[in-house]
Amino acid sequence: MKLTQLPREFEQALPILKKIEAAGYEGYFVGGSVRDVLLGQSIHDVDIATSAFPAEIKSIFPRTIDVGIEHGTVLVLSDEENYEITTFRTESTYQDFRRPDHVEFVRSLEEDLKRRDFTINAFALKEDGTIVDLFNGLSDLENQVLRAVGNPYERFHEDALRMMRGLRFVSQLGFTLEEKTKESIIENHALLEKISIERITIEFVKLLLGKNRKLGVEMFLETKCYAYCPELKGRSEQLRLFSELPTFQLTNEVQAWVLLIDQLGIEVTDIRAFLKTWKCSNQLIRQVQQAFKGLQWRKKSDYSQELLYDLKKESIIIVESLLPYFELENQAAVAIENYEQLPIHALTDLAVNGNDLMNYYQKKGGKWLKEALEVCETAVLNGKTVNDTESLYSYLDSYFPHLIEE
Ligand code: ATP
Ligand code: MG
Repeated sequence: MKLTQLPREFEQALPILKKIEAAGYEGYFVGGSVRDVLLGQSIHDVDIATSAFPAEIKSIFPRTIDVGIEHGTVLVLSDEENYEITTFRTESTYQDFRRPDHVEFVRSLEEDLKRRDFTINAFALKEDGTIVDLFNGLSDLENQVLRAVGNPYERFHEDALRMMRGLRFVSQLGFTLEEKTKESIIENHALLEKISIERITIEFVKLLLGKNRKLGVEMFLETKCYAYCPELKGRSEQLRLFSELPTFQLTNEVQAWVLLIDQLGIEVTDIRAFLKTWKCSNQLIRQVQQAFKGLQWRKKSDYSQELLYDLKKESIIIVESLLPYFELENQAAVAIENYEQLPIHALTDLAVNGNDLMNYYQKKGGKWLKEALEVCETAVLNGKTVNDTESLYSYLDSYFPHLIEE
């Protein structure tokens, strides 16, 4: 098969392939971007594979960076874009069901394609548009089938992450797992135990965000892979509920975690511990906690001024976007308008600051000060006082004896 029209991203990278060929080596586009072009989808990263060894690539291109030279990857800098160029390699020595402990550079494209996970990820695209398809990936693409390259049992033993990758492709593409591939995942699911959580998390999030999430989560359950993911063992019933939610696609990671956590029945106080086991960042954890609190409230009633203030625009949008999963209406526009109309949006919007209060009360800073500012914040938000200096002082005066006793 030959493509007559290449997408812009490939056209732009053609001079790189031509230069590699002119120097007497082979160069191809490989990996997910070739699959995505064949599926008519937009592409995000252009990966190039070559028979040239890293030192040879560096002698062909004047401007390069060694980004992963031990794995054979050199970053070639060109005027418009930078390209990762990886030498054909085999990954023969696997230990502990993880990634190979060393790779070997080879001159054969076939060897390189053989080590790839699924047939639809094992195409190479030549500079003239020819598709190299050594494992009948085109027919699998046509039939919407995910099939391991070679013997699935061996392939999942080499690198157990491939099972999670398979499930996330089910979710992203809506493809079915070829029978032996599926059986092999069912048989080997426990090998996921050997895989670093960080690698699992990346694939799991992609699974949650896939267009065909329901299908992906069902396979995740059926193959039992869930039981070897953090904190999911014993929670198949809750995961089933999650899979039965309306099928609208989730669009960001915060949304995905909030909805999952909600269906798993995890308490707000346990969110941090749960997401820590998935190695999520503190920033993500905070966003999820906020949006989760907002969602619980919003499922029952409308926002209070204080909740709008705490959530801020970003979390309000996330909370609203989750309501349709519970057959409630997304009212983001109204909620954002109400947010915009709040008298203040941050502590720094108050007409008084810490220094003002210390001067006014002739008192050094301390616990009272933080509390006093919070009293002002709440009072302004709830309309108990307007946000000007005099009104805030007189409002605080009635509180002050209580504040200094603390
Ligand atoms: P995405 O569109 O999400 O980037 P992708 O298929 O491009 O999907 P990458 O992780 O970018 O995934 O990997 C690029 C290519 O490298 C894959 O298409 C596949 O050929 C190969 N690959 C990646 N991870 C593995 C793995 N664990 N085992 C075998 N081959 C892999
Ligand atoms: Mg990719």
